[in-house]
Amino acid sequence: MMTRDEIRALAAFQADETEGACALSFYFQPDPPQDRSHRREAIVAKDVVKQALKSAVAQGKNGPLHADLDRVLEVATNLHGHARGKAVFACSAHNLWKEFDLPPRLGTTRIYLQSQFQLKPLAALLGAQPDLSVALVDRQRARFFDLRLDDLRENQAIVHMLSRSGASYGYHGYEGGHAERRVAEEALQHFKRVIGRFSADVASVSYEEIRDRANSVLNSWIVERGRTKASEALNLAKANGRGVTGLRRVLQALETGEVQSLFLNENYSAHAVACSNCGHLDAHMIPTCVACGKPTRELADVSDAIIPIAIRRDIELFYLKDHAELDRAGNIAALLRFRSDQNRTGQIATAS
Ligand SMILES: [Zn+2]
Repeated sequence: MMTRDEIRALAAFQADETEGACALSFYFQPDPPQDRSHRREAIVAKDVVKQALKSAVAQGKNGPLHADLDRVLEVATNLHGHARGKAVFACSAHNLWKEFDLPPRLGTTRIYLQSQFQLKPLAALLGAQPDLSVALVDRQRARFFDLRLDDLRENQAIVHMLSRSGASYGYHGYEGGHAERRVAEEALQHFKRVIGRFSADVASVSYEEIRDRANSVLNSWIVERGRTKASEALNLAKANGRGVTGLRRVLQALETGEVQSLFLNENYSAHAVACSNCGHLDAHMIPTCVACGKPTRELADVSDAIIPIAIRRDIELFYLKDHAELDRAGNIAALLRFRSDQNRTGQIATAS
């Protein structure tokens, strides 16, 4: 199971390029279920890795990167008929190898060789993903599961909590419907909020079915929540409140720690510069940093710098499809926790 700490560690990783180290990120997007017999994606995966090996050799990179690519090729070779998505992060120069099974929503099968791990496919997948619990309830029992990405585990701890609470239910006879409601009510007390429901046979439902049904409820919830919150951010930005739009203002808000949620058009990409000394990001292509005066370097896509920041700081990240208002506002917006430029009076009042 992929933990938040692991994701944060990946986001913070920086390969020592002076030593020839390279951060390898590999994503495998499986074929859709109806095409799985063709095994097209598994073949693509092998080709992608072989191609990367070829160009590594051509560039004289025969050391640790070659070893990593060999190992990824082995993984790719075993992906025939693999129904889940897969991600590998490797940098043997830093003794790092991480392999994860993920939901099959990673976009495309690709390999990235950079100084930092490429986390966009991962961020799109889990940026707004809450820890989810699934309660299956009928009149006789309640079963509980934790779902984190594609990893579904039955949680016995809550069942024990429920039985220790000493509630006795009328399991038999005409009291049945009432009992089911009581089991459900008590079960739901353990959760912050309910985001959706589905029907299933509690006794016979398979793990696979629970995971698929819960994932589909979760996905609709994330899409809806992203759209609603983006509109909220855009309206607040217009009112000069807790929202900002456009790259320049979003980068400023990131640096002042104001950002709570970040909204990007699905295919968002923009040039920017990053200070090689203090890390300051600037939407203007300036040669020297406004914060410390040191030289900047050009970023082909500012998302590569924004995404690790969002992951490290637990900023909720939404990729949106077809959001006309967001398009008009520069394809990027943020909802803020506070506004540093409007908070001064409040801070003084607290201090006095
Ligand atoms: Zn600087």
